[in-house]
Amino acid sequence: MTGAASGIGRGCALALVKAGCRVVVNHLPGDEDDARELVKELEAEGNQAFSFAADVSQGDQVEAMFAEVCRRFGTVHILVNNAGIQSGAPFQDMTFEQWRKVMAVNLDGQFLCARAAVREFLRRGPQPQVSSATGKIICMSSVHQEIPWALEANYAASKGGVMLLMQSLAQELAIHRIRVNAIAPGATQTAINRAAWDEPEALDELLKLIPYGRIGQPQDIANGVLFLASDLSDYVTGTTLVVDGGMMLY
Ligand code: NAD
Repeated sequence: MTGAASGIGRGCALALVKAGCRVVVNHLPGDEDDARELVKELEAEGNQAFSFAADVSQGDQVEAMFAEVCRRFGTVHILVNNAGIQSGAPFQDMTFEQWRKVMAVNLDGQFLCARAAVREFLRRGPQPQVSSATGKIICMSSVHQEIPWALEANYAASKGGVMLLMQSLAQELAIHRIRVNAIAPGATQTAINRAAWDEPEALDELLKLIPYGRIGQPQDIANGVLFLASDLSDYVTGTTLVVDGGMMLY
């Protein structure tokens, strides 16, 4: 689980442990306290967990993380590519660094982690006693994979890239029984979009965009991850599960 020290990643890590998984809490260097706290909570659910600091946009750190996961847990069955950032600006003011940073974390990071996971899935091969699939990848995308987002062009472009990366991998890897899917959360209450729900007026404006009448919670997204991670979705690959309270219907 990448970017697991907060928000959606944290919620998904808890849900996966409760479902019986052993979970690796990937986090950014500097988030050790939050990650350690989460590992304690995960272990209290009775399953093994450990944390690993790695910037997903750095190939050497991703390789080191997967090596450690395989050393401690033997192999990897599920990758949740969750880490993501926003860094918006009026387009004329957006710096190349801002553009690159969002692309590096949101898109390069998903590529680097997916490649490491696929290499391990193919090396290990099928394990029918564990799952019908040889491996599963769940990419955290966004409703903005398809909906443009003024002032957040880098974010929307990165998530559009995630969608086609996911679909291309699903097509290429289905022959190996590797399933690749995405979740497109709508507005979900986490640190990434605090500005949108911290102010009562901003929250009112946001709620006008959500037919279901409430902002999403990490558990809503975690429920989708549980489905895509389990054999209940055994015949599902290359799809995006939209979890947005109907936001995309407008
Ligand atoms: P969040 O900020 O709480 O979580 C993102 C996590 O990623 C943080 O823990 C952060 O430290 C980590 N991270 C950032 N850069 C990293 C890097 N280089 N390497 C490793 N970890 C890194 O926000 P969130 O809402 O939980 O976001 C999780 C995912 O959900 C993101 O991909 C985001 O784009 C997506 N998403 C969120 C919403 C929403 O409304 N909250 C909507 C659509 C999609």
